[in-house]
Amino acid sequence: MMEAVHARVSPVKDDELLDREAAAALFEDLSPNRLFGIAQVANGLREARHGRRATFVDNLHVNPSNICVRACKFCGFAALPGEAHAYDIDEDSIYREVEAQAPTEVHIVGGLNHQWSYARSLALVAGLRERFPALYIKSFTAVEMDWFARTAKLSLESVLEAFVDAGMNGMPGGGAELFSERIRREHFRHKLGADAWLEVHERAHALGIPTNATMLYGFGETLAERLHHLFRLREVQARTGGFVSFIPLAMQYGQDSARVIPPFENLAMVAMARLVLDNIPHIKAYWPMIGTETAAAALSWGADDLDGTLGLEKIAHASGAATPKQMAAASMRRLIETAGFEAVERDGAYRPLVRAVA
Ligand code: SF4
Repeated sequence: MMEAVHARVSPVKDDELLDREAAAALFEDLSPNRLFGIAQVANGLREARHGRRATFVDNLHVNPSNICVRACKFCGFAALPGEAHAYDIDEDSIYREVEAQAPTEVHIVGGLNHQWSYARSLALVAGLRERFPALYIKSFTAVEMDWFARTAKLSLESVLEAFVDAGMNGMPGGGAELFSERIRREHFRHKLGADAWLEVHERAHALGIPTNATMLYGFGETLAERLHHLFRLREVQARTGGFVSFIPLAMQYGQDSARVIPPFENLAMVAMARLVLDNIPHIKAYWPMIGTETAAAALSWGADDLDGTLGLEKIAHASGAATPKQMAAASMRRLIETAGFEAVERDGAYRPLVRAVA
């Protein structure tokens, strides 16, 4: 089986990517011998594309408000209006934070609410662009873009175009959760389904907006459901080429140690992403959710990027992530180098950054 997979996935061409049946057979058995074989193939694909380089970005997560009307069952971040832990950060505080941290990129994601309306969110992007001309602004998930269009009674295209005009560079990949109606009905029934999420991204790609994609796993979904999610992304990517990166997101169970997803499963998920989604250039190992050690190991399982230093990330941590809330660029470099890779700091568009030495 491993030879057959090797032959099919290398060299890297779209029509030679692993098919659904072969992927299901490959990941059915996660015994140690099989896992190491999978890691080898995934690492081969990663090295063919990125060599021994592993990237990271100095970024700041901005979560303007956690007030959200959707009440997804798995979400530890959101608060209903009026709840004690609800918060709303004002624009000046956000500008001050960006000024103080001087990140290369901001990643802006919040809840669905009427306080942070379409007009206010657009003005925030414009305000950031005006104050920080070189900043890479990655703003608002497909779920939020859809909400803005509905609440402002505008077409999705006009909303997306307005954000580009205001200074947005790209969109994050959150809100996809898992493309399964069964899981959606059980865990996030009021939220956008797979077709609508993919539609927002396809339209963004048609307008030239680069976007990310994610998959939240750990709901109790089947292997077939995970693969279905990845194959739907691969189909869209084959049409548009607009996804820049894919980020597997491990469900956070906080103190419930019996349910915490084990490291080998997180590593297998990274390898699965690289094998199925090798038409998406970057696969991230998202350290806040899988831990720094597993993220470093994931660089040998198909991942080529560790995302960022994050600033004051709130979403994963509100759901119980035990990792530090922020990692300095120097620690990020050390982590990558300890794992045996060449650390490269990048900008929001994945171009290497050369920092002046002080
Ligand atoms: S996951 Fe997103 S949409 Fe769902 S409750 Fe949390 S913030 Fe709201």
